[in-house]
Amino acid sequence: MIYLDNSSTTRVKEAVAEKMANIMTKDFGNPSSLHRLGLNAEKIVKEARLAIAKKLNANPSEIFFTSCGTESDNTVVKGVWESRKKQGKRIITTAVEHPAILEPAKWCEANGAEVVYLPVDENCCIRMEDLKAALTEDTILVSVMYVNNEVGSIMPIKEIADYVHAHSNAYVHTDAVQAFGKLDIDVKKIGVDFLSVSGHKVHGPKGIGALYIKTGIHLPSFMLGGGQERGFRSGTESVPLIAGFGAAVLELSKFDSAPKDYLCKCIKEKFGDSIKINTPKESVPSVLNVSFLGCRAEVLLHMLEEEEIYVSTGSACSSNTKKKGSHVLLAMGLKPDEVEGAIRFSFSDENTLEQMDEVMKVLTNVVEKHRKLMKR
Ligand code: PLP
Repeated sequence: MIYLDNSSTTRVKEAVAEKMANIMTKDFGNPSSLHRLGLNAEKIVKEARLAIAKKLNANPSEIFFTSCGTESDNTVVKGVWESRKKQGKRIITTAVEHPAILEPAKWCEANGAEVVYLPVDENCCIRMEDLKAALTEDTILVSVMYVNNEVGSIMPIKEIADYVHAHSNAYVHTDAVQAFGKLDIDVKKIGVDFLSVSGHKVHGPKGIGALYIKTGIHLPSFMLGGGQERGFRSGTESVPLIAGFGAAVLELSKFDSAPKDYLCKCIKEKFGDSIKINTPKESVPSVLNVSFLGCRAEVLLHMLEEEEIYVSTGSACSSNTKKKGSHVLLAMGLKPDEVEGAIRFSFSDENTLEQMDEVMKVLTNVVEKHRKLMKR
């Protein structure tokens, strides 16, 4: 099998799974218990928090565990709205966010917020002029994703945070789910107030995320109960998932762009004008989005699947519910035919150049076959 759907989710590394299994069966204490097993569990959680904090150059006290990237995003959007709606009604985000931001933004809109969805250019990047024009005195939150999950574009987060902080009282959030592990992230340098990450995108387990909250900022708690996570998110900590996330983060090394670059070059050479590369030059090494003109991406996906090559059309999380085509590609100005034929290849450190040669062989066959059928 050749797995090229790593932006949807990644394989948990053996060492990570082993650590988690040990915690579930041996070090299974509750961090709130006062005995030795409890203290041990508390230590495990502390180590994982430290690993994630270090990777972001945050203080461990600024990292809060959540159940996923979606929860981190929801917590910020709904939390800032709930706590600041008396100060202002405006929330600024982008048209190309993940539904984990778009849906809570819509919820805020339905509850009285005025949400501005910034457009993007052909590189899937917002224009600073648009942000400057949208930023008003009553803006309470600006939430812009760090890396787009469908095309891999990188937004100028530091520039955004600097401008917003210099010209308003708004908080700045970035959904860094697809940036974490691919780019060096330094929360102090980029200057955001909140940042979301997720475990299963970096070879950790599913069902665990984290939220960076800058010291001094308070968000309301949605989970009330025993006061875990320093009162911010009650509920017994999932020690195995937290430890798995921490262990996966410790294993992260510099992400190699060679498989993506090589596949991109081969696709361009082979298919010439009959494809369109949708991933901009300035992008993460993990994503390559290509439109195969005259093809239906879903058909290509299943033809590749038959040869045990796994890819995605747009983002996996939303492709079940989407009928109109990718909101990201449409926002970038792609034509319907280009949207319909768009495949996302997404990479991890487990992909090799040899695999890319195999992908090219299969891809050449399936695209040719499919195009012939479409012409009939
Ligand atoms: N944000 C982005 C940009 C994503 O790509 C995803 C998942 O694909 C999420 C948020 C949601 O993360 P999770 O699956 O951990 O809820």
